[in-house]
Amino acid sequence: MFRAILLEKNENGTQARVAEVDESQLPEGDVTVSVAYSTLNYKDALAITGKGPVVRSWPMVPGIDFSGVVEASAHPDYKPGDRVVLNGWGVGEGHWGGLADKARVKGDWLVPLQAPFTARDAMAIGTAGYTAMLCVMALERYGITPDQGDILVTGAAGGVGSVAVALLAKLGYRVVAMTGRPEEASYLQDLGAAEVIPRGDYSEPGRPLAKERWAGAVDVAGGQVLANVCASLKYRGAVAACGLAGGMSLPATVAPFILRGVALLGVDSVMCPRAERLEAWRRLAQDLDPGKLAGLTEEIAFGDVIDTAGKLIAGSQRGRVVVPIA
Ligand code: NDP
Repeated sequence: MFRAILLEKNENGTQARVAEVDESQLPEGDVTVSVAYSTLNYKDALAITGKGPVVRSWPMVPGIDFSGVVEASAHPDYKPGDRVVLNGWGVGEGHWGGLADKARVKGDWLVPLQAPFTARDAMAIGTAGYTAMLCVMALERYGITPDQGDILVTGAAGGVGSVAVALLAKLGYRVVAMTGRPEEASYLQDLGAAEVIPRGDYSEPGRPLAKERWAGAVDVAGGQVLANVCASLKYRGAVAACGLAGGMSLPATVAPFILRGVALLGVDSVMCPRAERLEAWRRLAQDLDPGKLAGLTEEIAFGDVIDTAGKLIAGSQRGRVVVPIA
């Protein structure tokens, strides 16, 4: 038997509880991992609270990421004792995930733990931090450099936002952090934000073209916020869009794209090819200041996961949430 957060569905919706599960119930996979750490990402919180249609089969163990030690393997790349990390691939959505003592997955989904990170560091970063790195890499690939002007990060006090602020500041960009929580201004400045601005009228319908302000942006909000970000990018600017914390819609016009040549760069971490994942983890090891990572991480007990998921959806949890398992 092992311990897991178990999600079940009944007529009242999603029910989440801490359960003892028989190992024979683990899904198919060629590598069994003893989980050391998992985390709470926005998607985990949607799954646990039932606030979003994340779970595709029931019952489900949530947890879209984990780090741990290989216990058994039939995969040629892994042997017992190897330290591994998993992000995405539908784990915690359609395949049992990391908020449990054990996980069984396809070896092809795993990456080796990147030195010098510990298993805890890897989950302090988690899928949110790895996605922040993918966003930064997308802006770089597009050719956005620090001399071109300010970079906006929306939802800056959340997980993706906090890591994006720290990374971009370390790389020499002037970062403007947008938040709905002005009380987090000093936290964001400590991470490296040169300026902190309220979300304010970015949540309201805006003009098709606004004043040109941003050379680039990382957006976790989607919805009206992303539409206004597009409208206020500088000529040939770009936004890396990865989230929907403010909504799934995109009430924008084509004006910024056809009159200012701006680019909307979509970022997906779930099915991201292996070579780019390895590069993102390598870049995190190079470009994420360990002191900043410590400052943006909170550790919670396994028994507090379900309550904390509610706080994350309510937008009252800041930075990254790491969950020790072993
Ligand atoms: P968090 O909950 O940690 O952060 C989300 C932040 O969004 C909040 O802290 C808040 O920032 C901001 N926010 C909340 N409500 C609104 C709103 N109504 N309008 C605008 N902003 C709002 O989540 P994560 O950082 O883990 O994830 C952020 C987003 O990125 C989620 O939508 C998630 O699904 C997505 N994501 C996508 C991935 C991908 O592969 N594409 C991978 C990982 C995450 P503040 O308090 O500063 O206002």
